[in-house]
Amino acid sequence: MNNSIYNFKLPENEPVLGYLSGSPERISLEKEIERQSSTTIEIPLIIGGKKIFTGNTGKVVMPHKHSHTLAIYHKAGEKEIKMAIDAAKSAHNDWNSQNWTTRASIMLKIADLITVKYRAKLNAATMLGQSKNIYQSEIDAVCETADFLRFNVSFASEIYKTQPLSSFNQLNRMEYRALEGIVFAVSPFNFTSIASNLNMSPVMMGNSTIWKPATTALLSNYYLMEIFIEAGIPPGVVNFLPGSGAKIGSIITSSSDLAGIHFTGSNNTFNSLWKSVANNLENYKSYPRLVGETGGKDFIFVLPGANADEVAAGAYSGAFEYQGQKCSAASRMYIPESIWESVKIDMIEFSQSAKMGGPENPLNFVNAVIDEASFDNIVSYIEYAKNSDKAEIVFGGTYDKSTGYFISPTMIKTSDPHFKTMEEEIFGPVLTAYVYDDSEVEQTLDLCNTTSPYGLTGAVFGNDRMEVVKACSKLQYAAGNFYINDKPTGAVVGKQPFGGSRGSGTNDKAGGEFNLIRWVSPRTVKETFIPPKDILYGYMK
Ligand code: NAD
Repeated sequence: MNNSIYNFKLPENEPVLGYLSGSPERISLEKEIERQSSTTIEIPLIIGGKKIFTGNTGKVVMPHKHSHTLAIYHKAGEKEIKMAIDAAKSAHNDWNSQNWTTRASIMLKIADLITVKYRAKLNAATMLGQSKNIYQSEIDAVCETADFLRFNVSFASEIYKTQPLSSFNQLNRMEYRALEGIVFAVSPFNFTSIASNLNMSPVMMGNSTIWKPATTALLSNYYLMEIFIEAGIPPGVVNFLPGSGAKIGSIITSSSDLAGIHFTGSNNTFNSLWKSVANNLENYKSYPRLVGETGGKDFIFVLPGANADEVAAGAYSGAFEYQGQKCSAASRMYIPESIWESVKIDMIEFSQSAKMGGPENPLNFVNAVIDEASFDNIVSYIEYAKNSDKAEIVFGGTYDKSTGYFISPTMIKTSDPHFKTMEEEIFGPVLTAYVYDDSEVEQTLDLCNTTSPYGLTGAVFGNDRMEVVKACSKLQYAAGNFYINDKPTGAVVGKQPFGGSRGSGTNDKAGGEFNLIRWVSPRTVKETFIPPKDILYGYMK
């Protein structure tokens, strides 16, 4: 029996290790990279705790060396998808009725397993499978994953203790029930931490999930699933279903037991899931909760008088870290004529010093983009700019997919603020700058606010406090994560809860209590001690 009352305090963020040459973490990571590079593993489905090998397989390759197969994975068919729905349903009641501190302790154990026992393994898998350099992998696969888990325990603690008033002759309480049904967790390729959190925030609140991982992130995602199991996630609470998103999505959204979708990925996919839910609305037992974080067209707005060197560093890191494949990556920049030349010179210098290649070589700042479809799509934008008289390539513009999907960080300058690359999400290492007349700040802020359908992240650089305040206010709805004198990427759990509105999603702020609250359906219970025995009001007697 556990009748203790826990109050989980806010934790510290997991420290980012340095990986200096010869450090213990560097030595064990290098060994693990070597080991994973010389093996091809087999990835099954995991349904109700059982591994299932369907025989219908696909390959997981290294984006930076696509001839190398890291894993053969098994794809779910209709039978397995239905099995997963049944497994999630039958795990639901037991998991939901556990003392919540049992769930909390499993979350904390997962975090500790990741940061201690499996740090190297998860980093190596993320580096090799998703082509991230050491730092990008460390802040994602290890630190952010652990932060999500640990902070969620503390946020859950706050939610559970939020209780209504009671007064004479009554006792009231809120029971934070899990949703009545299953949660469909659909994860993107670009963050191992997001894949974990899309499952673990509903699971923390007592739900069971069916997890559709992105095929290109399967290596790290499978290792995560193994860690969940080792930490004590019971069979059926998370069901791991690699395979075709469209097939899995259509069967799960037509289940009457669908209670929620926790999604991160592109707008097209989220919109199609939302439409399937709308088409099935009459069939559901409850209205499914739809939580989705989608695309972005994130901006940097530079005010006259900003420090050029700070702008250049913020723009380069913000646009090109992880090859621009962060939903928060800067991809359009508004910059006054007075400082454009200095920023340009600094950025060209950065582009010369930032090396490109596979993540096994720690000196490479830039690695490969995720796959061929993505490579071709990004290249089509670069070619469009090369062939336009409204744009010029400032640096980069080269690419090669013979060995790996490499695209050099590319900066475009355009004379048209509505140029295609200023408006559409590219999701690659391409930043477009529009240089404006210093006297046209207001008009340019309006342009920035109205140019793209998204509202995810944005940054303003400037030294004039009143101008910065004006930009913050004019761009109020242009970004859900807004930065002042900083790059628009790198949100940290507990410090900058993440998400945007407009076309960027439902803005339920991953890494905060707002997200967790979506995974409960509270029941209010009132108990009356001495119930009335009459129906007339006092003044009627
Ligand atoms: P994607 O939409 O192609 O895939 C996401 C997931 O959906 C994958 O697991 C995929 O297999 C699955 N899927 C595809 N079609 C499906 C369907 N019909 N039904 C169910 N599942 C389906 O996205 P991606 O390429 O993996 O990720 C990149 C996108 O994610 C970008 O648009 C980026 O902006 C966005 N993203 C947003 C955030 C955020 O917080 N806003 C964070 C990371 C990524």
